[in-house]
Amino acid sequence: MNEKEPIYVTLSSMPDFNEYCNEIRDLWTTHWLTNNGIKHKQLEKDIQAFLHTDNVSLFVNGHSALESIISAYHFPKDSEVITTPFTFASTTHAIVRCGLRPVFCDISPEDYNIDPEKIEQLITPKTVAIIPVHVYGNVCDVERIQQIATKYRIKLIYDAAHAFGVKYKGTDVANFGDASIYSFHATKVFHTIEGGAVCFRDPNLAKELNESKNFGLSPNGSVDYIGGNAKMNEFCAAMGICNLRHINDSIRKRKIIAEHYFERLSNIEGIHLSIPRSDITSNYIYLPVNFDGYKISRNEVFERMEAQNIKAKKYFSALTNDLNCYKDWMGFNSDLTPVAKSVAQNILTLPLYSDLEIDAVDLVCDTILQ
Ligand SMILES: *Cc1c(COP(=O)(O)O)cnc(C)c1O
Repeated sequence: MNEKEPIYVTLSSMPDFNEYCNEIRDLWTTHWLTNNGIKHKQLEKDIQAFLHTDNVSLFVNGHSALESIISAYHFPKDSEVITTPFTFASTTHAIVRCGLRPVFCDISPEDYNIDPEKIEQLITPKTVAIIPVHVYGNVCDVERIQQIATKYRIKLIYDAAHAFGVKYKGTDVANFGDASIYSFHATKVFHTIEGGAVCFRDPNLAKELNESKNFGLSPNGSVDYIGGNAKMNEFCAAMGICNLRHINDSIRKRKIIAEHYFERLSNIEGIHLSIPRSDITSNYIYLPVNFDGYKISRNEVFERMEAQNIKAKKYFSALTNDLNCYKDWMGFNSDLTPVAKSVAQNILTLPLYSDLEIDAVDLVCDTILQ
């Protein structure tokens, strides 16, 4: 038995209880609980302003946002989508569930994002899109990837689930590519309990995105799309309105904690940190450490943490082209993405959330360094 208080890898941020109660009070007057209510409209506007982007559509979660934007392009069935295997299952599932075929591109060992130099060799006449992920909030090589998408006239959709509030050279990542999706899941830097959004460049997509999350119903009652149900409800939107008021403060606190980790763990052989580049404004969502070449293995570090009741996470330990459900599927083979395979064996995300105590950070670092 372990008597130490656990140190969690993350804790969901919560607004003050009274602030949330005040935010939902109106709902007891209006009895309008979902279907593009007043909180939904407000949050959509607030996010648009926060991300400095023109077109935003809220969803019940990030995964539905991703499936909806992929569907909105009406790609021919069995078309190919170039993507990364070093991501959460959701990215690959969304492609497959939309009837398309993921083609896995290896990642860069520096930032764990899709390696732009390996994309072009995977393009075929069936390629319709690239879906990269800004993994851990590290920004992809957006310029190089856009050049490739433009050259081959294919769509570029970013899974920005990790990158809420992240900027590259002063531009919010919501504004790169044809579209970006966000997750507002409870474990993400900004959350609505469950939720998500699509930010998209072409304003003509608004009608389909907004209606397809409500069974394809148009305002005049006709059913124009074969939609599902993926609407964000008012209680989740209200949580988002509250959390967004405090997001800058929350990221500032995360930064202080992350910088303490960087200070303690820098310049140690075999410890590779993701320190944000100077042209990137980070959201400090995760603290990934790659232990490739460290004196003990990632798994040994993990076990030492367990013994101290520290809940570090092997995120991601399985590439999506190695998931059980894709065994023998369409020729998925993680040996074809060797960099991603090696990173998945060596990486650990350390505890990081805005109210994490510095003493806890020191305990985590001591446990690693001992
Ligand atoms: C969280 C996450 C998603 C899915 O978002 P949900 O809001 O949980 O549906 C998709 N992609 C990545 C990379 C994620 O981390």
